[in-house]
Amino acid sequence: MPEASHPEIRESVRRLCADFPGSYWQALDRDRIYPTEFVRTLTSSGFLSVLVPEEFGGAGLGLSAATAILEEIHRSGCNGGACHAQMYTMGTILKHGSAEQKQRYLPGIASGELRLQAFGVTEPTSGTDTTRIKTFARRDGDDYVVSGQKIWISRAEHSDLMVLLVRTTPRDQVAKSSDGMSVLLVDMREAVGNGLTIRPVRTMLNHATTELFFDDLRVPAANLIGEEGKGFKYILDGMNAERILIASECIGDGRFFIDRASAYASGREVFGRPIGENQGIQFPIARAHVQLSAAAAMVDQAAAMFEAGEPCGTEANMAKMLASEASWYAADMCIQTHGGFGFAEEYDIERKFRETRLYQVAPISTNLILSHVATHVLKLPKSF
Ligand SMILES: Cc1cc2nc3c(=O)[nH]c(=O)nc-3n(C[C@H](O)[C@H](O)[C@H](O)COP(=O)(O)OP(=O)(O)OC[C@H]3O[C@@H](n4cnc5c(N)ncnc54)[C@H](O)[C@@H]3O)c2cc1C
Repeated sequence: MPEASHPEIRESVRRLCADFPGSYWQALDRDRIYPTEFVRTLTSSGFLSVLVPEEFGGAGLGLSAATAILEEIHRSGCNGGACHAQMYTMGTILKHGSAEQKQRYLPGIASGELRLQAFGVTEPTSGTDTTRIKTFARRDGDDYVVSGQKIWISRAEHSDLMVLLVRTTPRDQVAKSSDGMSVLLVDMREAVGNGLTIRPVRTMLNHATTELFFDDLRVPAANLIGEEGKGFKYILDGMNAERILIASECIGDGRFFIDRASAYASGREVFGRPIGENQGIQFPIARAHVQLSAAAAMVDQAAAMFEAGEPCGTEANMAKMLASEASWYAADMCIQTHGGFGFAEEYDIERKFRETRLYQVAPISTNLILSHVATHVLKLPKSF
């Protein structure tokens, strides 16, 4: 197997994560509490600002450094979902923002003083069909006035800023359905209580996700990112980074399950011998390793293409799909290997099992990836 990239970064992440053992996550998980201490430690160690260029106070590293960080967080039994978006959401400002916007926000994001880790796209009525979003921003003098609703917007209560996708021209008045959408940077500190209401949504995992209600929220026109009407393209650009990074979290989860299953199968004795001597136990662990290794190679390839500035939408999608399926297979195998103990909270397997299931649905579901590959790569007829 090829050497894992960024060994020093991986080693320091592992050391940091050792201070946040299973008992820390179990306690938060019970009451659905945000891992403030963990996020603070990652921030002060500089791990969340590796993608911000040096001129704005970050480390200026490539995407593969970020994949190494998230993979190790997840392999250690921790979860990066509470803050991973702080790493990459700023990419929308970096790539499409004005010089003034970059100067104003990026240094604060790099230091962690400003949290930009909310990304508002999904809506209850449009689902995956993003061009049908209804949240609308109408121009009024120096402001946009935003009305509508979003769902599943993670970390909104723990963000100072949010990248928000809105319609600025109705869908039936544009030539292409993806035209007429725009990206606004919303200052949550001013917005909440002044036209923005946040309602937490309790889910099967501790993910700080929420529903947002916009009722004539005023956002300064100066907070428009890039050009009005071109927002969908900007959002798509950011999604490749997100998919590759989330795929690396799946790889970390998968390694966690394989590590735990291998250790347990070697130690647990039933019928007078370690259960791992039975091929019925060994083979699923070996299969998980094989599948995960293939997925990891795809994640590395997608990250390398992203770093080289090459188009990598298909590879990012394929990496996310393979990694989320490999981690889910490993999760199921790990529960089975542990027998009854797989269900006990103190083993962390059931928590990670619930956590890793998310990634076949979010940030994009498997069917939509298959549809992309079928129609864009294989040129099969479009079904929608
Ligand atoms: C915990 C959590 C956190 C999230 N965080 C965020 C966030 O921070 N920001 C954000 O904007 N969104 C977020 N999401 C939303 C997430 O991206 C969506 O849930 C996901 O993209 C799927 O969209 P949907 O739920 O609307 O499903 P739908 O679009 O309603 O689809 C439901 C099912 O039908 C399938 N389907 C739909 N159309 C087709 C078709 N034509 N052919 C075949 N199958 C189809 C889908 O694959 C899916 O399995 C989050 C979701 C969750 C659960």
